[in-house]
Amino acid sequence: MKALWSEFKAFALGGNMFDLALGFIIGTAFAALVESLAGNVLMQLVAAIFGKPDFSSLMFTVNGAELKYGAFLTELLNFLLLGLVLFGLVKLMKKAGLGNFRAQGSRECPYCKEFVPIDALKCKWCTADIEPALLDEEDTELIASRTKVAE
Ligand SMILES: [Zn+2]
Repeated sequence: MKALWSEFKAFALGGNMFDLALGFIIGTAFAALVESLAGNVLMQLVAAIFGKPDFSSLMFTVNGAELKYGAFLTELLNFLLLGLVLFGLVKLMKKAGLGNFRAQGSRECPYCKEFVPIDALKCKWCTADIEPALLDEEDTELIASRTKVAE
């Protein structure tokens, strides 16, 4: 029983589980924040311009069934907005030198056709030396600053 308890403790309080839970909680709170921005600010702008509080009143009626494409539009807008806010936040944090970001994206290794990080100099699958891909200016700076720290 004691072994089981310590195993459970390692599982529940171990790094991964805790990190995931924390990420999930913060993510949920953050999503609520963005949803509030969308619902309480932007959609009110939509209301001011088009005279409707949101798109949810938009629908087709086909054979008595209601196709509520307006509600979908609202959700889609929320999703795009969340992505945009996250994107902006990452850009800002990169600019301020906060956080530990990797260069975004991946590319194909020319030898084994597996995908490797965009700034990799060696393929992790076939260990071939590969040319670094062209990077955004901010990624180049990021890597340069990191290399300096490592020296
Ligand atoms: Zn390879």
